[in-house]
Amino acid sequence: MNTPLTADEIGANLRDVRARIHKAALAAKRTPDSIRLIAVSKTHTADSVSHAIANDQFCFGENRVQEAAGKFPELKARHPDIELHLIGPLQSNKTRDAVELFDAIHTLDRESLAEALAREHVRAGRMPQLFVQVNTGEEPQKAGVAPRDAIAFIDECREKWKLTIAGLMCIPPVEDPPAPHFALLLKLARQAGLDQLSMGMSDDFETAIALGATHIRVGSAIFGARPKA
Ligand SMILES: *Cc1c(COP(=O)(O)O)cnc(C)c1O
Repeated sequence: MNTPLTADEIGANLRDVRARIHKAALAAKRTPDSIRLIAVSKTHTADSVSHAIANDQFCFGENRVQEAAGKFPELKARHPDIELHLIGPLQSNKTRDAVELFDAIHTLDRESLAEALAREHVRAGRMPQLFVQVNTGEEPQKAGVAPRDAIAFIDECREKWKLTIAGLMCIPPVEDPPAPHFALLLKLARQAGLDQLSMGMSDDFETAIALGATHIRVGSAIFGARPKA
């Protein structure tokens, strides 16, 4: 078991991550405000999230609908400024819950999910910001559309399902240098006329910022190590 970090430790980590973002942004001649820090709170308790909030962090990421549904409604009631991002795979039968709870979904990766989201859009009259996940490493076990199918899939989301796509997301293979994957995502986004890029985690967000990331997803550098699955 890992002991949860204290509010002070989480505060110190957040200041450190913000300083790294600032430095990486300036090095890339970008304004630090153009990069959204998503604090990935999966496996961590609502107390840990509250510690981050006490240190002015209001944007969070979770990878499971059910886990987020257990933690965030109460936190959101107390802190209406919370912005919640789904960064893990979404099963079509959880679409309704996801649309209700999340402000952004980073993992749109197949037609059946586009269809379910479109139905929910009509029903609920609202839709989180949507990112299409691209499997840049073409890993069989990983979610995401193949790079060669990405543009056609985005077109279909727009034209057939009337969904507004905000940007693209990727998770590079752990064993690869991440830069070529981030560069590929940037190239695909430009081709599709998209300007939001969800890429970069604790170990590689500076590289992602250099290649245009607008949303970085940072977990362990803020909340400490997660228990091993
Ligand atoms: C867990 C997770 C992260 C955060 O990873 P860290 O290495 O802890 O920063 C980012 N993105 C996704 C999709 C994740 O599942």
